Amino acid sequence: ISLTPFANEPFVDFSKGENKRAMGDALDLVTASLGREYDLIIGGKHLRTTSKIVSSNPARPAEVVGIHQRAGAEHVEAAMQAAQAAFLKWKTVPVPERAGLLFRAAELIRQRKFEFHAWLVYEAGKNWAEADADVGETIDFLEFYGREALRLDAATTPIQYPGERNRLRYIPLGVGAVISPWNFPFAIMAGMTAAAIVCGNTVVLKPSVDAPTIAARFMNILIEAGLPDGVVNFCPGEGHEFGSAVVRHPQTRFISFTGSKAVGLEIHEQAAKTHPGQIFIKRTILEMGGKDSIIVDADCDIDAAVEGVVASAFGFNGQKCSACSRAIVDATIYDSFCDRLRERVSAIKTGNPAENVYTGPVISEKAYKKILDYIEIGKGEGRLLNGGHSIETPEGGYYIAPTVIADVSPTARIAQEEIFGPVLAIIKSENYDDALAIANNTEYGLTGSIYSRSREKLDRAAEEFHVGNLYFNRKSTGAMVGAHPFGGFNMSGTDSKAGGPDYLLLFTQAKSIGEKL
Ligand code: NAP
Repeated sequence: ISLTPFANEPFVDFSKGENKRAMGDALDLVTASLGREYDLIIGGKHLRTTSKIVSSNPARPAEVVGIHQRAGAEHVEAAMQAAQAAFLKWKTVPVPERAGLLFRAAELIRQRKFEFHAWLVYEAGKNWAEADADVGETIDFLEFYGREALRLDAATTPIQYPGERNRLRYIPLGVGAVISPWNFPFAIMAGMTAAAIVCGNTVVLKPSVDAPTIAARFMNILIEAGLPDGVVNFCPGEGHEFGSAVVRHPQTRFISFTGSKAVGLEIHEQAAKTHPGQIFIKRTILEMGGKDSIIVDADCDIDAAVEGVVASAFGFNGQKCSACSRAIVDATIYDSFCDRLRERVSAIKTGNPAENVYTGPVISEKAYKKILDYIEIGKGEGRLLNGGHSIETPEGGYYIAPTVIADVSPTARIAQEEIFGPVLAIIKSENYDDALAIANNTEYGLTGSIYSRSREKLDRAAEEFHVGNLYFNRKSTGAMVGAHPFGGFNMSGTDSKAGGPDYLLLFTQAKSIGEKL
């Protein structure tokens, strides 16, 4: 295949009239398709179950986005056998053909970009730019992993032993479970799936119950792009029932998971147990939560730091694993930073994401209650600067005001536990040593950022700030495929570095072949 070098999908400029109109049209188009029913797809067969998963719009919970079948533990065997059967053929399909499937899928999504934006607005409560970032990242993963698979296919051993011909081939693992979260319901779900299949594996795909419709629409794209039956088996179901049963199945060769620490650890433990008939050690690729900090140093540009903290803490309501939930601010600028931040946050608008308001609802009633509980805890742990309450609307959307709590101790619960909502703790640091010590004092290690004009301090952070994705003088969110391979340290996961040059190795095993000449 002749390919252009990888380049990130450009963001849509919604200030342009033509893009605004296209988005309006897409929202109308998708509105007409809300509430449709989607099937389980196992081995190419469409199946229905009596029990359903109903996905609703978090801005208007009465509005049904999609109705899905609820795969139960009883569907695991069928999905596994379909994936096993498909694996025998799929693993022999030449890599350029497998990569071609990803490139065609990317092109189909590109052509219907605005439609996918609209699905994300309705199902996940993303505003237009957040939806565009999710769709753009999906396209990027497909384009990037397609190229990476071709690169890996052409790889060989750098050293040849005298008198021999030596080869190193990267072959697939087998059948994997892909278990995805709701917060990047398109990009993360599609990225993990694409990486697995382009390497020749087949997959049982279990999307989040909070956002299965976007996954069903991705499945349709793959089929349209030429996906053979059984290579991806689409199985929405509850994590603790279907998800955990797939993890335990003796023929599940690997589990590619992104989600919370608690579930990631449970999967890790379950996958470590061998079951009768199991002939391999299961591989786990686990990307988990974060409690991410931005250090605001005494000599930084305070306005830039305020903007970066706000974007990182409140973009998509802080519902990103990379979101800043702790601003660690030097004592000498603390009061001035707090004043400016309070003013900036009070200007944030919250409302219906279909109207492209900056922050929309949080994903579900469960998340809404959990976040409000944390806000009450936070009020007892610091000084409320902004928000601290829900916002009621006639449609009953799950809205919470952007909340900032200052004077928080580095060991307070809201400074240590992942809240995954629009809640920011501000912590005062005595000096730069103190700031770095605070930044490293959680069990997580996903993203971090520092605002400083001092090269020396930035260099120190490069050595000492222990996170998988570190940024200087910019926000902690918005990792770009290729440029910022993504994954965290410690309890943030296995540091798999999605969108990076090592990622596909996780979905393969290397076979060395030496032949005497
Ligand atoms: P979650 O509750 O852990 O769920 C993630 C997925 O795991 C869902 O599909 C869920 O099913 C499934 N699941 C739940 N229990 C399971 C079990 N016992 N066995 C197998 N699967 C199970 O996470 P979430 O609320 O969807 O997503 C938010 C979390 O993801 C946050 O912690 C965030 O930091 C993290 N995240 C991390 C990254 C990263 O790259 N490190 C990226 C994005 C998000 P259900 O459909 O039933 O929920």
